[in-house]
Amino acid sequence: MTVVRGKPRRVVTLKTPREIALMREAGRIVARVHEAMREAIRPGVTTAALDALAESIIRKHGAIPSFKGYHGFPATICASVNEELVHGIPRKDRVLKEGDIISVDVGAIYKGYHGDSAWTYAVGEVSEEARRLMAVTREALFAGIEQVRVGRRLMDYSRAVQEYVESHGFFVVRLYTGHGIGRAMHEPPEVLNYVNPMHPDSKRRFVPGMTVALEPMVNVGTWQTRTLSDGWTVVTADGSLSAHFEHTVAVTEDGPYILTTLED
Ligand code: MG
Ligand code: MG
Repeated sequence: MTVVRGKPRRVVTLKTPREIALMREAGRIVARVHEAMREAIRPGVTTAALDALAESIIRKHGAIPSFKGYHGFPATICASVNEELVHGIPRKDRVLKEGDIISVDVGAIYKGYHGDSAWTYAVGEVSEEARRLMAVTREALFAGIEQVRVGRRLMDYSRAVQEYVESHGFFVVRLYTGHGIGRAMHEPPEVLNYVNPMHPDSKRRFVPGMTVALEPMVNVGTWQTRTLSDGWTVVTADGSLSAHFEHTVAVTEDGPYILTTLED
């Protein structure tokens, strides 16, 4: 899940190795959900069925869905289809069809610590444009993660993501940002996916023990967005496709440590 860019709070909580180990467990559970989503997503499946599957996996591993009840959000996953970029609400009547793309965002709390990760999936065969959008968004996230190194600035992450996306002709969403994460799903700092030197967190440096959820949201036709009347679902202003990839990452002396993965 993402946050609306706002007035940043100043104090960043650094995590101990023990806390990062717990966040790694939370992240592994989130990654297991994504592994299951990859298997389950196909034409004919409903977003409500994906939500039920995600919740059962999280609870089976002794964790709690982060999103359920968060500011009243009613579900375990955000399921955002095609022009929806974030915060789509799973529904029994939302049936995926061949050619759709779906962004699944999911968070879990394990022993008091959060993991948060999003991935965009193809439903069957999708258009060349959709494939390219998903690839560029995923690659932009990893170009950004490369910058998560002690001494570099948050703005170095932002620049890497923005330049990668724009060099491929797509648009980075401005209004929603990545965030610190730990005992709360959303902690300081805000981590923008575009360069804004005026933002108070932009010049902040990555330091060991900082844990952040990095999450570029990328649109085909415009960076502008609007929220639907359900109060949650965010769509592209022009109806073009959108993709969203997110990992929770810890800053270490040895470089970025991705917590929301099944790989070691
Ligand atoms: Mg998320
Ligand atoms: Mg997030």
